[in-house]
Amino acid sequence: MAFYINNKEFKSQEEFCQLGRGCATKNPNPIEIFRVDEEIALNKSRRRLFSKLSIEVRFHHITYGGRGLITKTQREEQITLLNEAFSNANLTFKYSEPNVQFIDNYNWYNMGHGSASEREAKTSLGSDAKKYLNFYTGGLASGLLGWATFPFDLAGDPIIDGVVVLDESLPGGSAEPYNLGMTAVHEVGHWLGLYHTFQGGCDGIGDHVKDTPAHSSANYGKPAIDEPHNACVAGEFAPVQNIMNYVDDDWMKELTEAQDARIKEQIMMYRTGLLNK
Ligand SMILES: [Zn+2]
Repeated sequence: MAFYINNKEFKSQEEFCQLGRGCATKNPNPIEIFRVDEEIALNKSRRRLFSKLSIEVRFHHITYGGRGLITKTQREEQITLLNEAFSNANLTFKYSEPNVQFIDNYNWYNMGHGSASEREAKTSLGSDAKKYLNFYTGGLASGLLGWATFPFDLAGDPIIDGVVVLDESLPGGSAEPYNLGMTAVHEVGHWLGLYHTFQGGCDGIGDHVKDTPAHSSANYGKPAIDEPHNACVAGEFAPVQNIMNYVDDDWMKELTEAQDARIKEQIMMYRTGLLNK
């Protein structure tokens, strides 16, 4: 059955997910992955950890022709979802209404990943990326739900840092079954240093998180939780409810202990500005 998302037709929901579930976050290459692992290992002994960290979100809502007008309730619900998802990583998220900005711009509203419009919009709108989570919403290029930058790219390109999310994917939006706000949670997971659980498939080096079983490719929809599905190792179950998989919003329910630990390490390595405000 044909599947429509953000003005684009796919053969099926499966095809949409195989093509990336609308997540355009770049696929880190093996050299980058190893560099990051090495840097983290080298700094392990010297690194302090935080017991609690509050991250201030700066919402930048790009609108066009009456579309993209995110409400206060939507922002509040989105923040609640972030607080629930990352509480075990000792993170809380907050924002303040006076810092929310709305900007009407056709090109920015329809921005694609890596586009000139994206860079223009972020250059004009972004707050200091070392201190804040820049959260952009817009209509985006067709077929996309969102994307994020990784912590290890902050120093090299601070302007582009942040998450970009389809306006209709926020709680109460129309991008069913991706309209409960979990796209933003998934993208913030990338922003905090997590890869997809299926990163590298069965042959690659995986997501570098010990307690997420490797699986051959993304899962989609609402897969049964008591089946192995496409796990690479006999006896293991694919993490079908993990936030860093490609399942429906109402199926994204958890992050593992090792994912939470990785988030803390990535913050202490690459996002220390969040602690020094
Ligand atoms: Zn993703």
